[in-house]
Amino acid sequence: MKKIEMKTPLVEIDGDEMTRILWKMIKDELILPFVDLKSEYYDLSLPNRDDTEDKVTVESAEAIKRLGVGVKCATITPNEDRMKEYSLKKKWKSPNGTIRAILDGTVFRTPILTPSVKPSVRSWKKPITIARHAYGDIYKAVEIRVPEKGKAELLFTSLSGQETRETIYDFECPGVLMGQYNKDSSISSFAHSCFSFALDTNQDLWFSAKDTISKKYDETFKLTFQDIYEKFYKEKFEEKGIKYFYTLIDDAVARVIRSEGGFVWALKNYDGDVMSDMVSTAFGSLAMMTSVLSSPDGCYEYEAAHGTVTRHYYRYLKGEETSTNPMATIFAWTGALRKRGELDGIDSLIGFADNMEKAALATIEDGVMTGDLVSLIEGGRTVSGKEVKKVNSAQFLSEIRKRYEAMA
Ligand code: NAP
Ligand code: MG
Repeated sequence: MKKIEMKTPLVEIDGDEMTRILWKMIKDELILPFVDLKSEYYDLSLPNRDDTEDKVTVESAEAIKRLGVGVKCATITPNEDRMKEYSLKKKWKSPNGTIRAILDGTVFRTPILTPSVKPSVRSWKKPITIARHAYGDIYKAVEIRVPEKGKAELLFTSLSGQETRETIYDFECPGVLMGQYNKDSSISSFAHSCFSFALDTNQDLWFSAKDTISKKYDETFKLTFQDIYEKFYKEKFEEKGIKYFYTLIDDAVARVIRSEGGFVWALKNYDGDVMSDMVSTAFGSLAMMTSVLSSPDGCYEYEAAHGTVTRHYYRYLKGEETSTNPMATIFAWTGALRKRGELDGIDSLIGFADNMEKAALATIEDGVMTGDLVSLIEGGRTVSGKEVKKVNSAQFLSEIRKRYEAMA
C-alpha cells in the first residue's frame, strides 16, 4: 500500500513515562505504516528538558508558531519528589504552561464518546467541549491573612501617579483578604480563541460568568466577548447557523445538565478548572478526554488530557503487563494529522484520520478494550451485545490496526 504523503511537517513533541511508551507503539503500529510522516521532533522528556535547560520546550512552542500544528505526549511537571527521582538541576516549569504562554492559547477539552460507555447524565448524546481561560484570577492572586482589627483597601496607582482607592472592608475582627486581576489583552485573546474554535468545529458557543455580582470584573469578560462577537464573528456564525450566547454561570450549569451536548462552553479560569473535571468524570473516563490548545492566530497543539500514567509505568518497568488506554493519545495524533490535512488540502490525510478514529471506536464497540474501560461497560456487554474482553495496550493497538486495514 502506498503511504499518504504530507506537505508541511507536524511538530512532534515526545514526553515521559507510560505515555512515552504508548507514543512509540502508536507511531509504529498506527501511523508510520500508513503515512509518510513528516515531522519536526522535539524530545520533552524530563531528562532532555534538564539537559537543555528547558530550551527544548521553548523551541517546540516556537516550532508550532512557525508550522501551525503540533502533537504532544504527556510530560512530567516536576515537584520535589521528581527533582530527586531525576536528579534535576532545577524544578523546571510545567511544559504545558510554557507552551501556552508562548502560543497565547486556550485549552479546549473534549471527551471521546462511544455508545457503550454511557455518560452519567442521561440526556448527553454529543460531546461537551470545555474552554478554560487559563490565565489570572485566583491562580495569580495575592492573599493576606488579616491578623486583627483594621481597614482593608484596594489601591491602584497609575504610571502617572493617579490613585484610585476603594474600601474593601473595615475589619472588626481577624479574617482573610485576596486581590486578583486579569488583563484586557488576555481576555480578548481568550474570546478570539473560543469564537475561532466554535467556527472551526461548527458548534454553538456558550460563555458564562457572574456579572450580576461582579459588576466590573466579570462584566469586563461579558462585554469583551459581546464586543468581539459583534465585530468579528457574528456574520460568520449566522452563515454557519451556529449561535453565541452569554448566560449566568448558575443558569449555565442547569442548562448543561438538561442539554444533549454538542457545544463549546467557555469559562473563566477557576470555573473551567472545576467544570472540566465535573464534565469529564460525568462522560466516563480521563483516559478518553482529548485536549487541544488553540491560539488566536490559528495554531493548534493536540494532546491527551491525562498525564504520564506513572503507576502503570512503574509496573511496566518491572516487566508486568499493562493495559493503559491509548485512545486520547491516538486521537491527539489523528486530530493533528486531520488539521494538517485541512490546512494543506490533503484529503487522503483527512480520510486517514477519520478512518483511524472509526477503527479505534469500532474496536471498543466490538468489546475489545483496556482495563479502565471494562469497568465502565454496564453488564459486561457492549450495546450491540458483544462480551467485553480486557486486552493489553499492544493487543488493543493491533486490533485497531486490523480494523483499519479491513476498512482501507
Ligand atoms: P495521570 O497520569 O493522568 O494518571 C492518574 C490515574 O488515572 C492513573 O494512575 C490511572 O489510574 C488513570 N489513567 C490516566 N490516564 C490513563 C490511561 N490512558 N489509561 C488508563 N488509566 C489512566 O495523572 P497523575 O498520576 O496525577 O500524574 C502523573 C504525571 O503526569 C505527573 O508527573 C504530572 O505532572 C503529569 N501530568 C502531565 C499532564 C500533561 O502533560 N498534559 C497532565 C496531567 C499530569 P489507575 O492507576 O488507577 O489505573
Ligand atoms: Mg483541576
